[in-house]
Amino acid sequence: METCSTKSEKLSAFAEMRMLPEEEKTFLEHLLVCQKCQRNLREVYESLLKIGSPPLTSEEKDGLRKIVLKHVKRLDQERNQQRTGWMILENLANVQPLALAAADDQTADQRLLKSALSSNSLTFVAICDKTHPNYWKATFPIPSEPNPEMELSVEVTDVSGEPVVDGTLIFCGIEKQIEEGWCYISMTELRDNLKKQTIAFKTASGELVEGLLELFSDDISDY
Ligand SMILES: [Zn+2]
Repeated sequence: METCSTKSEKLSAFAEMRMLPEEEKTFLEHLLVCQKCQRNLREVYESLLKIGSPPLTSEEKDGLRKIVLKHVKRLDQERNQQRTGWMILENLANVQPLALAAADDQTADQRLLKSALSSNSLTFVAICDKTHPNYWKATFPIPSEPNPEMELSVEVTDVSGEPVVDGTLIFCGIEKQIEEGWCYISMTELRDNLKKQTIAFKTASGELVEGLLELFSDDISDY
């Protein structure tokens, strides 16, 4: 489902490097999770290259190339973060201690893992604009000493950061009714369903908004 309503003028402004740095950063964050904008942006780039309009100077082309490279780098980083996040949940589900084996910060993956674990939680967010009325955020605790009897208390908040009053969290296909901003997933459920690696929130009126792991705050360079 696509909840994005980004205007084509905004995509053009991004492609033609007319955005202010702060605006560009915000839009890039959106672009990382919005397939609709990714698709549309590709079309904008293609038409820019084809028609050559507006004609780009070689400096502008260099600038454009830099932005695209940065974009690709962020997408890679985001994919690694998603992988690390799900790996942490897999470890949890299998009740493996999350102590970092050989955590000497030598590789990017280790740094990523360390930064993900340092907050003792993993946060998933809606794939839609942060201001969209159906925006949601779900925070999973990462217990340092997991045991099979444990139940994970997942906190779900809405666009204003308030507890979600009504709705369903669908985590790896498991449907959990949210009450007063919380729902609970047992380690057994986690273990039995983790293959699916999807998350979505269904509003009380039945609208489904898919989500992704939120980017960890560290390690986003160049900004
Ligand atoms: Zn979008």
